[in-house]
Amino acid sequence: MATLTSPQAATLSNDEILRYSRHLIMPEVGMAGQQKLKAARVLCIGAGGLGSPLALYLAAAGVGTLGLVDFDVVDLTNLQRQIIHTTDDVGRPKLDSAAEKLTAMNPFINVCKFETKLTSANALDILRQFDIVADGTDNFPTRYLVNDACVLTGKPNVYASIFRFEGQASVFATGHGPCYRCLYPEPPPPGLVPSCAEGGVLGILPGLLGVIQATEVIKLILGSGEPLIGRLLLVDALAMRFRELRLRKNPECPVCGANRTIRELIDYNQFCGIRGESQEAPLISAVPEIRPEELKAKLDAGDDVFILDVREPHEYQICNIGGHLIPLGDLPARMNELDSSREIVVHCRSGVRSAKAVTLLRQAGFGKVTNLAGGILGWSDKVDPTVPKY
Ligand code: ZN
Repeated sequence: MATLTSPQAATLSNDEILRYSRHLIMPEVGMAGQQKLKAARVLCIGAGGLGSPLALYLAAAGVGTLGLVDFDVVDLTNLQRQIIHTTDDVGRPKLDSAAEKLTAMNPFINVCKFETKLTSANALDILRQFDIVADGTDNFPTRYLVNDACVLTGKPNVYASIFRFEGQASVFATGHGPCYRCLYPEPPPPGLVPSCAEGGVLGILPGLLGVIQATEVIKLILGSGEPLIGRLLLVDALAMRFRELRLRKNPECPVCGANRTIRELIDYNQFCGIRGESQEAPLISAVPEIRPEELKAKLDAGDDVFILDVREPHEYQICNIGGHLIPLGDLPARMNELDSSREIVVHCRSGVRSAKAVTLLRQAGFGKVTNLAGGILGWSDKVDPTVPKY
C-alpha cells in the first residue's frame, strides 16, 4: 500500500509472534506479511451486518489500525446478523460496542472511532488517513459517496452488498480497475430497491459477504493472490452458487474515466433522488392520518370502522389486529372487496405501504380512507403493547 507507516512501527513483539504464529509459518504471509498487516490502516464504513465479521476478522488477523465509521445505536433487530454486538449492547452506540469487542479480541491493534454519518463534507478527510476502504453501507447515497471518495483519494474500495438471500462483492477504484460507477452509472429510482429493513435479509448472508470483504482486504495488504478487481462476485445463498461477472473500466465513467466530470464530492442524496433525511416522509404526511389512540377510541365506541391490512400474509402471521388482509400489490385488483361507503382505516407495518394504499383508494373514489399513523408498530407502542413489533 502507498502509505504504510515505517517498518520500525510494524515490528512484532514476542507475544504478537505467538499470536500470529499460524500466519507466520505460511510462506505467503510470513514475518514480512504480518508486519504489512500490522502497518496497514483499513477503514470500515459501517459497524453493522457486513462490518461485524469484516472488522472482527481484520482485528484477529492483526490489521494494525482499524477505522470504524458509524453513528447508529445497537437495535434489537440488528442482533440477528450484526454479530459484533450482544443483547447487553442494545441502545449503546455501535462504535463503542464494536471497538470494545475488537480490542478485547486483539489488544495489539488501534481502533479509530468516527461517530458520524459519512458525508461529502467529511469523507475525504477521513479516507485520507487510511490505505484501504471497506464499504459495508446499506444505502445508495453512501455507496456512491464512498466510491467517489475512494477514486478521488486513490484508495481501493472493497465493496459488498446484500439483500435477502443474495450478495455481491468486488474491489473497486484501484486505478487500473473499474469503480462502482463504471458498473452502475446511475442509482436506481428511489423506492425501487427495498432496503434490508423493508425486504429482510438472511442473517448469515452479511457474514458470508463480510468475510469475503475481509479476505480481499488482507490480500490487498499482502499483495498476494488475485483480488476481485474487474470481477463482480455474485452469491446466491439459497442455491449456494457463486458466479462471477467480468467488469470493465468504463472509459466514459464520470468519476474515473478519461473525461471525468466529477472532480469533487457531490450531493449524493440529490443524486439518488432523495430529498431530506427520509424519502418517505413527504409521501406519508400527504395522506390523511388517524392516530392509534383515535382508532382505539372509535372501536371502543362501537363506530363502524373497517380495518384494512395491506401487509403480506407472512407478516399477518407474525401479528395482526384483526384487519382484512389485502397485500398492497393485490389492492388494485381487489378493491371490489371494499365498501366505499364505509370508513376505512388502512395500516401496514410502519405506515409507508398503507400511505400508498390510501392514495390508491382515494384516487379510486374511496372518500373515507385514512392511514393508521405509525402502522402496527404505532398500535403496539400507543394502544396494545402485547402486539409484537418486528
Ligand atoms: Zn469508474
